[in-house]
Amino acid sequence: MRLDLRPILHVPGASLPFDFTLDLSGLDFYGERPFAHPVRITGAVRNMADALLLEGSAETTLELVCDRCLKPFRQEMHLPVSTLLAETLEDEENDEIVLLDNGEVDLDEVFTTAAVLNMDAKHVCSEDCKGLCPTCGADLNEGSCGCKPERDPRFAALAQLLDKENE
Ligand SMILES: [Zn+2]
Ligand SMILES: [Zn+2]
Repeated sequence: MRLDLRPILHVPGASLPFDFTLDLSGLDFYGERPFAHPVRITGAVRNMADALLLEGSAETTLELVCDRCLKPFRQEMHLPVSTLLAETLEDEENDEIVLLDNGEVDLDEVFTTAAVLNMDAKHVCSEDCKGLCPTCGADLNEGSCGCKPERDPRFAALAQLLDKENE
């Protein structure tokens, strides 16, 4: 959605609210499409006398796959977004400011960029997820699989450290 800011461009104190849904279902992250549900975008652009301030949030439920146990899981996303807008850039190097196009701001672009930058590279269904057995592939969250006794994870970490030092 594009928001026409011309009604507030020269009116200090004025603001324009926005509230719409964004379809990001086509966004691909390493073969996964976490934005399966519409993203609700709300907020407002406010004329702060010498600056235009956009403040809003993007909310949705992400459909993710756990990197450890490979199970799909859902995670709520509440992403606050705040950025300055300007009709022209005084400093060409400043990429923190979003430039208006004919007095309009491209909200789709602002919030799509924010959502992409916010995505973690790694996802785990829970910090306690035990993952899969490297030997038989069983989900260790559902109990031990009967492969050779697991090493105490503290010793496993120590062994890894020692292995590294020996390289
Ligand atoms: Zn997991
Ligand atoms: Zn196993």
